[in-house]
Amino acid sequence: MKAAFPYIGYHTFALKDFLTALGAEVCLPPPLTKRTLELGAKYSPEMVCLPFKITLGNFIEALEKGADTLFMAAGARKCRFGYYHYLQERILKELGYQFRFYPVSQYSPYEFIFEKMPQIFAVSPTQVLKALYLMIKKSELCENFKNCLRVIRAIDYQRSLEFEKEYLKKIENAKRIKEINILNKELKRIRKNWLKENRIKLKVGLVGEIYFLLEDFANQELEKELGKLGVLVLSKRSLYSRLKHLLKIEKEFLKIYYYAKKYLAVSPGGEAIHTIGETIDFIKKGVDGIIHIFPFTCMPENIVLHSLEKISEDYNIPILSLSFDEHTSKTGILTRVEAFLELLKRRKRNGNSIYWN
Ligand code: SF4
Repeated sequence: MKAAFPYIGYHTFALKDFLTALGAEVCLPPPLTKRTLELGAKYSPEMVCLPFKITLGNFIEALEKGADTLFMAAGARKCRFGYYHYLQERILKELGYQFRFYPVSQYSPYEFIFEKMPQIFAVSPTQVLKALYLMIKKSELCENFKNCLRVIRAIDYQRSLEFEKEYLKKIENAKRIKEINILNKELKRIRKNWLKENRIKLKVGLVGEIYFLLEDFANQELEKELGKLGVLVLSKRSLYSRLKHLLKIEKEFLKIYYYAKKYLAVSPGGEAIHTIGETIDFIKKGVDGIIHIFPFTCMPENIVLHSLEKISEDYNIPILSLSFDEHTSKTGILTRVEAFLELLKRRKRNGNSIYWN
């Protein structure tokens, strides 16, 4: 089996190790480029959300590279994500590709562990559990790495480039739980030291649609650009937090849900609850502003726009919402971000916000 799945930022490592531990040969598509997006957009329904187009482009490039088995997360109930896999499989078949396609439901861990994975890979549920544990630990490592990288970027951008290169290699090579635990501790210590010895000038909470938060190609490397401008980005979303949420062991969710409830009586699906709850949590923790990112036609994130306006008024904090589609220009995005940061700096000078370290 030559298995492929769409890229999901640094967390791709965790998914790759999961499939490898189950005995698959992972055939990752080439890194995401303009071609990936153009291919995806060419064969997608025009108004579908951007993650659909990018992941479809991903699948086409993986099939071109020789993949014969595709995995796609599925089953997001209220939003379009629940239909991604039906449509993508159909489009790829109509294009003439030969492959097996496995939608993996996010909401039935029991079926996933005891039925689906054992059937596909001819392994026992115990082996699935072991591979799952490895994926959870590796995704925790990827989260710690990203949090550390965010701090270094905001303080010394050039140094962050070396750090990123060095640790990506270490993360990719860490295949055993013991090695992963050592790296996890090391990254936490590095982050703590950088924070202790340096002063952070501006701190921004990043919220929005999950694929856009995790995949740098989708958000046009927004986090990198913010780091270059000396901004510390805080973000709670990762594959690790998502896995904990699906396994119902995400401790923070109760708090997030409680915060969101006041502004969103009913969830419109997707990550709307997280977007609202995390925004309030970041504000309470003293960020200088919030940046909200989402695909242009994303239903849940468009619905929360009104709630975010209200939160901005209630807590007297600037919130910048940025939507992206395949025509979005990076220059346009950066111009808006720079103007927003100027506003945050001016507020800070005028004493509307406190320094954090
Ligand atoms: S959350 Fe938004 S972008 Fe993601 S699948 Fe649903 S509608 Fe599309």
